[in-house]
Amino acid sequence: MEEKIRQLLATIVHPETGENIVASGFIEHLAAAAGKITVVLRFAKPRDPFAVKIKNQAETLLREHFPDRQVLVVVKEGGAAPRPEPKLSTTTGGIAKVIAVASGKGGVGKSTVTANLAIALRNKGFRVGILDADIYGPSQPKMFGVEGYVPEAIVEGETERIVPAESLDVKLMSIGFFVKPTDALLWRGAMAVSALKQMIHQTQWGTLDFLLADLPPGTGDIHLSIIGELKIDAAVIVSTPQQVAVADVVRGVELFRNENVNIPVAGIIENMAWFTPAELPENRYYLFGRGGARRYAEQSGVEFLGEIPIIQSIMDGSEEGRPAAGIDPRVEEYYRPIADRLVSKVMING
Ligand code: ADP
Repeated sequence: MEEKIRQLLATIVHPETGENIVASGFIEHLAAAAGKITVVLRFAKPRDPFAVKIKNQAETLLREHFPDRQVLVVVKEGGAAPRPEPKLSTTTGGIAKVIAVASGKGGVGKSTVTANLAIALRNKGFRVGILDADIYGPSQPKMFGVEGYVPEAIVEGETERIVPAESLDVKLMSIGFFVKPTDALLWRGAMAVSALKQMIHQTQWGTLDFLLADLPPGTGDIHLSIIGELKIDAAVIVSTPQQVAVADVVRGVELFRNENVNIPVAGIIENMAWFTPAELPENRYYLFGRGGARRYAEQSGVEFLGEIPIIQSIMDGSEEGRPAAGIDPRVEEYYRPIADRLVSKVMING
């Protein structure tokens, strides 16, 4: 009987991992006795966006197959959860892959995409950190709800290290921890570079599968300084569909492809691709033009990693300190395939 229940539950797949809930270790407890079936499902993440859906699926399935039994499925979250093994190996206990997230101009959603991509990678079981190097408008502390964080300095052997913030299982170091937003203009020059250097070389990341570096918008000297200090494995470029934004993307791609820089461009993400009002879910309004970034990607031989529409919860999530990919299944569905493509792209490049 219990074996049969397990077999049935194994037909339910968690939409995020694509794996069945039995193989992924979600069944914490299972009992069938005295006319009752009780199943306890343990979800790794607190507030897993799919918890209720999976619970309902399990109950319906068991009731169908055992109509004469009372079926109870209980959901527990967090704690002793099975966490998928990180998939990349780091040889030295350092960072396996550093990915720069760049954009030709400000306001296209580069920081928002970085934060949500970090969550999408975390959801796949990777250990993720964000280095927020956007000296003009460091927004990661707000997006992860750690604005007041003051990085502590500790001495490790001979070296001084700075401890990153940690929120939602993502480690975060931001230039915003060191400057007030009103100071930002002062930081464009040498001071910014030396602060960035310190963040790059002294942050105590521990072992990470991915470090996402949120670069300042544009393609200036500051980028060359960062590229010179940080060993970047691949770059992702975020753009909106407008032609003007795409023209800036071209400069971004050229920067990374420059023979002295030579960083592979993993792909382009088109953000704010369209808007769908909640009350007209079938309608798509292409407010900023249609498919410009995708077309450019296809023409220039850069991979198109995917598109993300304008969604209210994306903006709300940034304001509330919880990136939407971790709470809104609709947003998560857009980010998951992008994260998948990015992972396979950087793994292929070695
Ligand atoms: P950048 O880092 O490129 O300057 P931000 O990430 O700060 O841009 O995004 C600019 C604004 O647009 C923010 O208020 C953000 O919440 C919002 N935003 C970004 N992408 C989306 C989206 N897909 N849907 C809704 N709002 C978005």
